[in-house]
Amino acid sequence: MTISFDLDDTLIPASKIFPTEEQNWLLRLLGIEKVRKGTVGLLKELKSRGHTIYIYTTSYRSTRKILLTFHLYGIPIDRFINQEHHNNKLKEHRNRTSKYPPAFGIDVHVDDLPGVKMEGELYNFRTIIIDPQDSNWTETVLRAMGE
Ligand SMILES: [Mg+2]
Repeated sequence: MTISFDLDDTLIPASKIFPTEEQNWLLRLLGIEKVRKGTVGLLKELKSRGHTIYIYTTSYRSTRKILLTFHLYGIPIDRFINQEHHNNKLKEHRNRTSKYPPAFGIDVHVDDLPGVKMEGELYNFRTIIIDPQDSNWTETVLRAMGE
């Protein structure tokens, strides 16, 4: 299954605060963004179960930077989709949703925003919404995936 993760307030603290993974000297030196506690374990687990992992963000972070970020955490991701990629792709689909995972072959998208869940219900794509306060969020993802 191809599963995508939002960044801001899902895997990376932005307007919300949640515990983050430890950073080694190299991550600190390079100014790599902190990721949510549990991210490394969850993504490794999903990979080992044969899933494909994408990052899908409405930010304009660069592909190079995000691929490097996840590589340095030891969890290479399969594809990165930012707002620019989304805009280009969605022109073809004439779609006005903030995110449209089916355009990228994504089976389920993990996000913090209830609005994305509503879009999913409206446009027929599967979402898993994680509360930034959910300290057991990795279990929530696995359970919602039926794993
Ligand atoms: Mg978000």
